[in-house]
Amino acid sequence: MNEIDLSSALSLAEKINNRELSAVAAVEACLESIRKTEDLNNFITVCEHEALEAAKRVDSDIKNGKRFLLAGVPIAVKDNIRTKGIKTTCASELLSDFVPDYDAEVILRLKAAGAVIIGKTNMDEFAFGSANEYSAYGVVKNAYDRTRVAGGSSGGSANAVSAVLPLSIGTDTGGSVRQPAAFCGVVGLKPTFGAIDGRGVIGLCPSMEQVGTFSNSCDDAAILFSVLSGRTPHNLDGKINGKTIGIAKEFLQAEMTEAVRNALSLAAERLEEKGAKVVEVSVPSFAFGLATYHVLSSAEAVNSFQGIIKERPQTELLGGEVKRRMLSGAVVLSGDNYDNLYIKAAKVRTVITRDYECALSSCDALLCPTTASAATKIGEVTDPQKGHRSDSFLAPVSLAGLPAVSVPFGADNSLPLGVQIIGKRNAEYEILNIGKALSAM
Ligand code: GLN
Repeated sequence: MNEIDLSSALSLAEKINNRELSAVAAVEACLESIRKTEDLNNFITVCEHEALEAAKRVDSDIKNGKRFLLAGVPIAVKDNIRTKGIKTTCASELLSDFVPDYDAEVILRLKAAGAVIIGKTNMDEFAFGSANEYSAYGVVKNAYDRTRVAGGSSGGSANAVSAVLPLSIGTDTGGSVRQPAAFCGVVGLKPTFGAIDGRGVIGLCPSMEQVGTFSNSCDDAAILFSVLSGRTPHNLDGKINGKTIGIAKEFLQAEMTEAVRNALSLAAERLEEKGAKVVEVSVPSFAFGLATYHVLSSAEAVNSFQGIIKERPQTELLGGEVKRRMLSGAVVLSGDNYDNLYIKAAKVRTVITRDYECALSSCDALLCPTTASAATKIGEVTDPQKGHRSDSFLAPVSLAGLPAVSVPFGADNSLPLGVQIIGKRNAEYEILNIGKALSAM
């Protein structure tokens, strides 16, 4: 059974549509692969029964002449996205028995496209964190090196694509798709803010949070994005002749390891070899991104959380990081801080947004590292402030609401690294195409 190649969604769907392979066989192979990699702790819930039933329905529809974009493709879903009849815990003890009575919009779209929900993935509790070390269900172990983290907050989704299956979805508020994608050696796309309907996602930061995708290739990311957004599917040709790629000088001044710096310059060279022009641009407010993100995201989270606590008042079940965020959000919103921190951060956000848009007016996309280092050791980062620093290239893009993709590129010894390609609003296919050019030898 294990000869079934589960790495590419497009080729799986083609085989299943052509009845060279059944959806049931693909799902069985995937379940087997999940069992074999159980020690990675990628999943909170595996929905074996529902997945096999769904696969049977896809097979019989195909027998009746139907074709699907994601025919029988197994997909894993972050556990903060509501799945009807399937536990949705947000990796929190507070919601350990929560079974939604409706599907999130993205789940409905996946099902309509013939994809099969295989399980719910591990994450940082309520999506706060960068290492998946704040989960009530334990840390996710990186498939490249089990002593290292998979990143977060969508650690299980990223690691599952690296180790088990072709596709998963997660959410990205300040980097939670792109960062674990880089740590796990997979493609992670955060679309333009608003491009994918977020109804049914248990999100805490409504002005930034976006559903995003994990896959092993940019082609698979493009097809999954089209299903989730309703955008017309678009074939990537990987041609970037005549494109202009900007690298902001502020990116180069930021802290990063030598391996990351090397990967960035090799990526720039690779793009030039493929016919693109690499130019220097500037994003003067870059350094304020992370602090601005934390002020705004914790303030928003306090508001959103009030709704959850109304129904589930047992706050003693919450983990330390969630409590820290609630506290800092409450501080940000109280007394004079409201003007001095919250309102000020909101203004800085508009400056950051303008800076990115201005930089993008002289080029087609921006290039920077995804993270400042490769995956850290489990337990290595004990100071939450340090954990946050790994998001410096990610959070400002979320504030600006722009689309960005992390593409595996380079390595630090045996650990994967990623580079981030940031695009203009709604330019998902464009940045994925640049990513494809970068991945191709
Ligand atoms: N790592 C960031 C944080 O902890 C981002 C989280 C996210 O994108 N959900 O806030």
